[in-house]
Amino acid sequence: MNIPTIFQKQKEYFNTNETKNVKFRIAQLKKLKQVLKKNEALMYEAIYKDFSKSEFETYATELGIVYHEIDTFIKHIRTWSRKKRVGTDLANFPGRSYIIPEPLGVCLVIGAWNYPYQISLLPAITALAAGNTVILKPSELPSQTSKMMAQMINSNFPAEYFRVVVGEVSVTTQLLDLNFDKIFFTGSTQVGKIVYQAAAKHLTPVTLELGGKSPTFVLADADLKMAAKRIAWSKFLNAGQTCVAPDYILVEKSIEDKFLSILKTEIENNYSQEKVEENYLQIINDAHFDRLNRLLEVASDAGCVFYGGNTDKSNRFISPTLIHNNSFKDEIMQDEIFGPLLPIISFRQLDDIIQKVKDRPKPLSCYIYGKDRKNINKILKELSFGGGCINDSVMHFTNSKLPFGGVGSSGMGSYHGRSGFNTFSNMKSILDKPVWLETSLKYAPYKSWKFKIVRWLLG
Ligand code: NAD
Repeated sequence: MNIPTIFQKQKEYFNTNETKNVKFRIAQLKKLKQVLKKNEALMYEAIYKDFSKSEFETYATELGIVYHEIDTFIKHIRTWSRKKRVGTDLANFPGRSYIIPEPLGVCLVIGAWNYPYQISLLPAITALAAGNTVILKPSELPSQTSKMMAQMINSNFPAEYFRVVVGEVSVTTQLLDLNFDKIFFTGSTQVGKIVYQAAAKHLTPVTLELGGKSPTFVLADADLKMAAKRIAWSKFLNAGQTCVAPDYILVEKSIEDKFLSILKTEIENNYSQEKVEENYLQIINDAHFDRLNRLLEVASDAGCVFYGGNTDKSNRFISPTLIHNNSFKDEIMQDEIFGPLLPIISFRQLDDIIQKVKDRPKPLSCYIYGKDRKNINKILKELSFGGGCINDSVMHFTNSKLPFGGVGSSGMGSYHGRSGFNTFSNMKSILDKPVWLETSLKYAPYKSWKFKIVRWLLG
């Protein structure tokens, strides 16, 4: 079935109102969970072929999160979909006011490659839970995983309700020509701009989940051992190919040497040669390997590689690497790294370093390791970013009660749990007026006594 036909069928199906039925939605979510569970072994196999991702990481960072979100929706959509009464002002007495959440219609979800199951399925599930139909276009880079998703979804759900379409940029371009009711995009800031422009043609609302350089502060009073442990885990998870990974470290000069040495030990403990084999991922493709390798070579030529820096092109391997003595001017500090290279910049004055971060595009995440609430609050107050953690990194993503999204060039809109439900819904506002009372107040002729009362009513 070609793309315009799928789209047309979804439009028609949405108009039957079947997806608006909450019982129907819950049944579909339960079915989806069963389909995923049944295919779990095949999904592990596909993602391993794409970039050697282990079953543990695939479950913990992808499938487990997807199952949890499905359960959250099954539990809450009845309540979230209900009409909600709100207050009514005096001017509208004796009316009643309420909000009716309604699905938007036919939604396009475009996924990135780095957590291919989670990043594609999570927004798709959210859209379905809110009563929409979905066309999902996963990234073409992890080809086995995308094929797997298409096979699994398309053989279990009708195209008029939920369809996975695989393909390269040309396929996305075709999709972006259509008049969707919502576009949810996860990917780079650069492609986000293309999506935003395409959506503008039809005034389609968009959510953009983009990337950026996420700073991580390590303040002098931080618990250095814990900071190193959590930073090493969150940076080298998925071989650094994580949108919310700490992109670079800002460490206070007074603890710099100590912190570097603890961080190095932490990496050695987790990713020694034999542990790397089973716990560490490949870089997704040759182009990304070459890009990262170039950054590494520049750092190496400048004598800045503090630890790691081992590579093997034959299996797209780059070891966890610490890059030291950086400045904001270095090439590695210009774009999102999206790989296992971690630059570390030291600072003496918090105010100065905050200003440096402020001068850059707003990041997706920010992490602060430290104890003094005055300093922590200062960073929270002064810097704008999508979300983050204090004394941890990445984990805010896993709490579905926290809306997840970026700000400025790291994105717009949010999802996860309730905020995702709202993202894929229109909050229809209704004022419901009885007919037994009507004053002449708002009608002409506009006498001065009427004006006085209107002034009194509106303030
Ligand atoms: P990308 O922007 O290259 O691709 C994303 C999607 O857009 C893919 O499906 C791709 O096929 C499509 N695409 C690529 N070029 C296109 C074009 N010219 N026109 C139309 N469609 C096009 O991103 P990526 O490399 O897959 O993912 C990495 C980026 O995604 C990083 O910047 C990362 O930070 C970001 N990301 C953000 C989040 C988040 O939740 N905020 C999550 C994961 C990844």
